[in-house]
Amino acid sequence: MSYSNNPQPQHSAICPCCNPALTLLAEAFTMPRRMFLLGAGSFVTTVALGNKAEAMPTPLHPQSQLAQLQLAPNNVFADAIYINATVVTVNDNQPAAEAVAVKDGKILAVGDRRTIEALKGSTTQIFDLQGKTIVPGFIDPHGHVFQQGVAASVADLLPPPDGTVDSIAKLQEKLREWSQNPVAADVGWIIGNGYDDSQLQENRHPTRFDLDEVSTELPICVIHQSGHLGAVNSKALEIINITADTPNPPGGVIRRQAGSNEPDGVLEENAAYLALSAVAKTAKVSPDAPLNFARKGTEIYARYGFTTAQEGRATRGVYEVLKAAATAGTLAIDVVVYVDYLVHPDLHTWEVSRTYTDRLRLAGGKLTFDGSPQGRTAWLSQPYYKPPEGQPADYKGYGVYTEEQAMNLVDSAYQHNMQIIGHANGDAGIDQFIMVTQKATEKYGKGDANGTLRDRRTTLIHGQTVREDQLDAMKELGMFPALFPAHVFYWGDWHREVTLGPERAARISPTRSALNRDMKVTIHTDSPVVLPHATRTIWSAVNRCTRTDFVLGEDQCLTPLEALKALTIWAAYQHFEEDQKGSIEVGKLADFAILSDNPLTIDPMSIRDIEVLETIKEGTTVYKQ
Ligand SMILES: [Zn+2]
Ligand SMILES: [Zn+2]
Repeated sequence: MSYSNNPQPQHSAICPCCNPALTLLAEAFTMPRRMFLLGAGSFVTTVALGNKAEAMPTPLHPQSQLAQLQLAPNNVFADAIYINATVVTVNDNQPAAEAVAVKDGKILAVGDRRTIEALKGSTTQIFDLQGKTIVPGFIDPHGHVFQQGVAASVADLLPPPDGTVDSIAKLQEKLREWSQNPVAADVGWIIGNGYDDSQLQENRHPTRFDLDEVSTELPICVIHQSGHLGAVNSKALEIINITADTPNPPGGVIRRQAGSNEPDGVLEENAAYLALSAVAKTAKVSPDAPLNFARKGTEIYARYGFTTAQEGRATRGVYEVLKAAATAGTLAIDVVVYVDYLVHPDLHTWEVSRTYTDRLRLAGGKLTFDGSPQGRTAWLSQPYYKPPEGQPADYKGYGVYTEEQAMNLVDSAYQHNMQIIGHANGDAGIDQFIMVTQKATEKYGKGDANGTLRDRRTTLIHGQTVREDQLDAMKELGMFPALFPAHVFYWGDWHREVTLGPERAARISPTRSALNRDMKVTIHTDSPVVLPHATRTIWSAVNRCTRTDFVLGEDQCLTPLEALKALTIWAAYQHFEEDQKGSIEVGKLADFAILSDNPLTIDPMSIRDIEVLETIKEGTTVYKQ
């Protein structure tokens, strides 16, 4: 395997993973809470991984449905029965059923209506689904539920199909609307997230003058969908103290009005992060706000049929807020947390666990090997199709870690038997991840005494340009591919025309290549990079259509059932939770999504239009249309 030297390791305070602007805002908003928690002395650093056998348990498979039914004493009755349903179980041994019975938050029985109705007692609730489809609750194999909560708390400036902002006028209207809600008035800022200049009719960023039309009294800050740029109004420029005399900060650009030095309000990279720091410092955020972000994040996930979300790169502050929200009982669904291992190298001494407490579980460490292909910061082995402005023709992006750093992080995780997930988009970044995983595997042993592969489920997150030879190496090392085919829709055209060129673009997130090797694969939303929209995620993996309806890499398409597995049972497996979740089987948690149509039989192009009618977490409705 070829291996390139990292041209310029870039470890900054801003994580290049996902949306740096929202990351910064989310972390800044947890500061008061963090201080409060520090004052209350509630930092917990329990060592939970002392026992290796306990840390890596063999997954227990529930007993077969038949055995369970036979074992159930005659007087066991269901709490709830769902009848007249199209049950898509995602269980290969019993793919379809008509009815499901639930008791104590778990699945009691799955089968035909008569068998299930026999479990009806005097207090059993009967739900007639009138032919609607019931599937296992969706599990997001990678996303950022807390950031999603932050994004959902500010003005929504996303373009269609996720939002409605396709012009500067609509953007202004959204900001005016948001500023009129009573909570916003207390904040002292008007904040919006998610506009995309390429999706606005004007094909440009909003300027200070566009934003001044919304308010000259209150400062305004709007964040680009990429999280790498933003725009502010004149009042905000005054507060941040950016004038014609302010030079560009290192790693950032203050855009100027044509023919002058006057800032036009658009800020790039570090200049935008300066503005966000000012927002975080001066916005009046109530002490309850971070808890509300956590709650809101899980509620949005529930709206799309998810019963498990991920916080895929937490810091201590974010983790403590999630814990407080869990203790307060406000998490609508399960949240599995991975903490940045570079920022917190003592993570393996925290309460890493395989079991949930109040819907929260700290699962392991997050690593970040490179940037993003759409921002042309992913670290490739071959040059970009078209380099960004100011870069030479052989520009290949860059990695985040030095080789030594990468080695130490993976080595430490393997030494402490802690699961790690690693963001790597470019194939050179993936090479580095595989290379250090190979070394750690050699050092700590690939197999157990009986020669079976040690089950670490080290997960490659995104893997957008993962090569065939790399998938071979990953299979050999027991690494798990968590891919991102939603990119095909959102940035597929951009990848074809600008970042990767037609050939490499057709292979982004090569889901079929992974399945061809008998590997399991998952598909994620990386929310809030894109909405945590489950049926649209499945649609992308099945159809691989870009925004312009170009089919990108038809040979990598999944069948609807495979895509459903990639968002349920295989996602549960990636999290070591397949004994509890991911299929409708006796003994597993009663986590369901009720859908308007059956994704396995509807026209595949219509899968994205399937609506989530209800989401059920352990037998309790957490969302209903
Ligand atoms: Zn990422
Ligand atoms: Zn992410």
